[in-house]
Amino acid sequence: MITGTSKNLGVIGYPIIHSLSPAMQNSAIDAAGLDAVYIAMEVSPEELTAAVKGLRATGFIGWNVTIPHKTAIIPLLDEVDENARAIGAVNTVVNKGGKLIGYNTDIIGFCDGLHEKGVSLQGKPAVVLGAGGAARAVLQGLMLEGAASITIGVRNPQKAASITKDMPLKVPVQIVEWDSESMKTALNEAALLVNTTPLGMAPKTDGIPPVDWDVLSPSAFVYDIIYTPAETRFLKEAKSHGHDTQNGVPMLVGQGAAALSMWLDTNPDRTAMRNALEAALLAKEKTQA
Ligand code: NAP
Repeated sequence: MITGTSKNLGVIGYPIIHSLSPAMQNSAIDAAGLDAVYIAMEVSPEELTAAVKGLRATGFIGWNVTIPHKTAIIPLLDEVDENARAIGAVNTVVNKGGKLIGYNTDIIGFCDGLHEKGVSLQGKPAVVLGAGGAARAVLQGLMLEGAASITIGVRNPQKAASITKDMPLKVPVQIVEWDSESMKTALNEAALLVNTTPLGMAPKTDGIPPVDWDVLSPSAFVYDIIYTPAETRFLKEAKSHGHDTQNGVPMLVGQGAAALSMWLDTNPDRTAMRNALEAALLAKEKTQA
């Protein structure tokens, strides 16, 4: 039950109506019997400054930040953690005694998806498809996991160049056209191949980034951060070529669980979160059908 003592949490974005976070976060809050509530708040870009001021003034203990505010919120915070600063995006704000601190738990969520399948990248090369906002979190995650080198395959390397210019790089990172010879060499040596493009995401489920499966190292682990559908065409093809795979659901659950544990000092029930997320995804699929 929500009472006068309930701690306030939520997510800001524009639009926000389709957010799955309230269902997922409230399931974990209920499972742990915590006195807190998580709500979705639509905040337009013009109202971001006022909204942050209001959340601070009303004592929200924290909130998630989604598109289009992940970068714009940075100057409005008192402190930004090193990893969030490296990728230039905040998806979680923690109010520590009036001080607003920004984090990026997408990085943790991405790494959770690797750990869940027992994948170790220490000293190994990885290939990432796409160079957008999510790719930055993936890149930072791969560096934290100890990848030896990273090849980013895109349709337009010139457009993607900002990703390596903006981010502090701890390992060699090259950006190549995804149907080039350099891409073939990278695929041949890869321990991991990750799709961070929206190709294959519902409703356009026949989409797939171009991958020469005959060239990809047979032992490569294949990861798609898309979570709807649960099995993209990219993952289906990877499986049919004998690769172990992961989808984007553990990343989504992991980023939410990491945020909740920072706000409420709890170890969230990930099964409850995953079940709530899968039920919300199913309901969403039905309304789209
Ligand atoms: P984004 O910033 O728009 O970046 C998308 C990237 O994919 C860009 O490099 C873009 O290249 C490329 N791309 C897009 N459409 C393409 C096409 N038709 N052909 C070739 N390349 C194309 O998007 P994002 O925020 O990074 O999100 C990407 C995906 O990650 C989405 O499906 C999203 O749902 C998923 N995601 C999942 C999680 C999770 O928790 N599992 C978290 C975040 C995001 P150009 O620059 O050339 O357009």
